Amino acid sequence: MPELMVQIEGQSAPVRLADCFWVLTDGRGCAFGSMVGYSAATEEAAHRDFTPRTRDRDRQTRQGWRVRLLSKDQWRHDAEGCFLGQCQHRRTTA
Ligand SMILES: [Zn+2]
Repeated sequence: MPELMVQIEGQSAPVRLADCFWVLTDGRGCAFGSMVGYSAATEEAAHRDFTPRTRDRDRQTRQGWRVRLLSKDQWRHDAEGCFLGQCQHRRTTA
């Protein structure tokens, strides 16, 4: 597989796509899905993998869900707590 380099938000230098993670977040920024970077080349493709049905994707987009590409460090900072049930997103709205 060719070495795909990507530029991601909050990072000054490009990183290897294989070292990144796609994350699906809801309107609060809480992560619900995660997959390794090389499983999709674009946000749209990643969203199709997370949410196969068009109608469901459109609803998520309307509700502010986003697909983000995160480096390992960003993933640990922004998403890991969500999967462990320890993040601030759910707490602030509970
Ligand atoms: Zn969260």
